[in-house]
Parts: sequence; C-alpha cells; structure tokens
Amino acid sequence: MGATYKMIYLDHAATTAVYPEVIREMTPYLHDYYYNPSSSYKEGRLLHKKLDQIRTVLAGGIHAKPQEIIFTSGGTESDNWVLVNAARSLCGKGRHIITSAIEHHAILHTCHFLENCGFDLTYLPVNREGFVAPAVLEKAIRPDTILISVMYANNEIGTLQPIRELGQIAQKNSILFHTDAVQAYAHVPIDVSSTPIDFLSVSAHKFGGPKGVGFLYAKEGTPLSPLLYGGAQEQGRRAGTENVAGIVGMGCAAQLSLEHMTEYAGQESSLRDHLMHRILSEIPMTRLNGSSQKRLPGNLNVSFYGIDSATLIAMLETKDIYVSGGSACSSADQAPSHVLHSIGLSDEMALGALRITIGHENTMEEINETFENIRSFVQKLRQIS
Ligand SMILES: *Cc1c(COP(=O)(O)O)cnc(C)c1O
Repeated sequence: MGATYKMIYLDHAATTAVYPEVIREMTPYLHDYYYNPSSSYKEGRLLHKKLDQIRTVLAGGIHAKPQEIIFTSGGTESDNWVLVNAARSLCGKGRHIITSAIEHHAILHTCHFLENCGFDLTYLPVNREGFVAPAVLEKAIRPDTILISVMYANNEIGTLQPIRELGQIAQKNSILFHTDAVQAYAHVPIDVSSTPIDFLSVSAHKFGGPKGVGFLYAKEGTPLSPLLYGGAQEQGRRAGTENVAGIVGMGCAAQLSLEHMTEYAGQESSLRDHLMHRILSEIPMTRLNGSSQKRLPGNLNVSFYGIDSATLIAMLETKDIYVSGGSACSSADQAPSHVLHSIGLSDEMALGALRITIGHENTMEEINETFENIRSFVQKLRQIS
C-alpha cells in the first residue's frame, strides 16, 4: 500500500487521489475545529457558516442556489434518497419509475428493491454507443410515471447522455427528473439553470475529494422527504451531525477541479485519444466500447477479442499499472457487465473489456508505457490460447 513511486494509476472512475491541498485544508477541521456545527456557541456557529460557504461553492459549480445543495455521505446515498423519496411521496400519484439499463448499481439495486415493494420499473434500452434516445423515453412515459432517472455520464463507457433533451421531456410531462452526475460533476460543465433537472447526485471522491461525502442537488420547491430521521441538520432534510472535515475537503476539491476543468479535460482527452488510436490501430481484433464523440474526457473502454480481461488486468498489475474491467463495484463477480451487455456486446467481447480512466496527473510517458505492456500481454495471451 501507498507505493506511489512508479505506480501508474489509470482507474480514476473508481476513485481519485485526494489533492494535497484538500488534505491540508481538512486537517484543522479534524483537530482544531472539532466542534459540532449545531452548537450554539461561537465555535459551532463559525463551523455552520463555513459549511454554508462551501454550499455556495458547490452550488456555483452547477449554477444552483446554495439552499438547493444538501450534504450526504456520497453518490450512493444521494441516488437511494431520490428514488425512495419519489416512491414514498408520490405513490398516491402513481407507481411507475423510468430509468436506464446502464445505471450504476446505486440506482439499479434501489430500483430492484422498489420493484419488490410493488413499483413498476422501466429500464430504458440504450443504442450501441450507450445513448438513451429521447424518443424512446417519450414512448415509455405513462400517466402513472412519477420519476425519470438517467445518469449524466456512464462510469464504465463514459457515454454522456443527452440530458437536456431527456430533462425537457420529463418537464413537458410534469415528471420529476433525476440524474446521477457522480462521474460528470467537475469533469464536464453542468448547468441546472438552463437544463431541466430536479435532482442531481454528486460524490467527492470522484474529483479529488475524500470518500464518504457528497451532495444532492434538489431544485427549490421540489418535494423531498428525509431518508434519515433525527436532528434538524440540513434544514431538517438530512439528519446526522455533518461530516465537517469531509465537507471542507469536498469544497476545496470542487474549487480546484472546477477552476481547472477545461485544462484537465483537454489533457485527459488528448492522452485518451492517443492511447485509443494506438490500441485500435496497432493491436488487431480490438473494439472501442461507447461513443467516440460524446464521452467523458478521461474514459477509454476497449475490448480485446479472445482475451479474458481479468487475466490482462492481473498481468498489468505485475507492472504496477492499475486499470479495471467493468466497474470496480462488479469486479468481484465474473458476470459480464450489464452496461456492456446493454450496448450489444457478446459475452466474449464483454469479458475482454478493459476500462482505462485517465486523470489530470497522468503523463504521456505513463500512457505509452501502459500501451507497450498491453500490447505485449495481449500478444502473449493470444499465443497461448
Ligand atoms: C462512484 C459512483 C457512485 C457511487 O458513489 P459513492 O460516493 O462511491 O457512493 C454512483 N454513481 C456513479 C455513476 C458512480 O460512478
């Protein structure tokens, strides 16, 4: 653990390294300012004010109002909250929820739970590049539809959905619209003032912040009942003493990531394109998964015909190169990823998929070294099979 000397980390969709500035900013909130932000004395009040300043920074990143930002424990909680809230508060209006087939498990497994509770779920199909077609969403809407949830950007293949069009369809039909923007926030521009979005989920550890903290954007006036009951924190919407140091870290990471968003996206996409072209042109029988245009800047997902990517990943690890197959969350099970299955890949091509997600600290030398290793390992594996 902790060996950073020569290691090549290319799994930024799983998590990112915490910015050194973020650690420095957080530290005083762990030992000097350990007070409870709900306490009435000065130290508590100051912390409360600090949290509100961070709320303003986070809101600014998506053109929202500070009071529309609610701190949570991360992407999973924000996703669960939106779905469970809609089911609870709108079940009198209807019991139909629409989502996509390629969502993160934080959405899909909550949907399965709601199905067991008697809700009706529609999992929208996606095309070969992973896009939800607006016309397909439009057709799925029923009079009893209470929520539409489609992710902003996919964590495996990086596809950026036509969120504005999808949100407009939801708005036109007076249906609440949620988007899981965990992979997108602070990586691509998001503007809730010009995009009809009612709820949006974010997680700090996907943009240089600490793990276990995130937020939910909830448009002003949108019904939202608590997921956790207890104290009156977060205007009575989310109980529990705030993760002060974590929130401070998230605010600092957001500031840094938003400030450098265009620059980092440019760097990451040029390294990604370089690696993509080398893999597709120099290694035979390979295929790009996802869109070649509308995808997250640092995301590359390629399949190697006839290769078991679990073996390839293990071989790369011996060279201190860290990549993944499907998502980190599904690496324990050997079943092909639901995302790759949904874009029409055969089991064989899905099991041969490698996800390489590049961050702003990666270099051209690292990318070329990674390519050379992939090429020689793929060649080796194909020779023995
Ligand atoms: C990582 C991730 C989540 C889960 O966020 P956590 O903060 O790790 O709970 C949800 N959705 C997507 C798209 C993700 O990439």
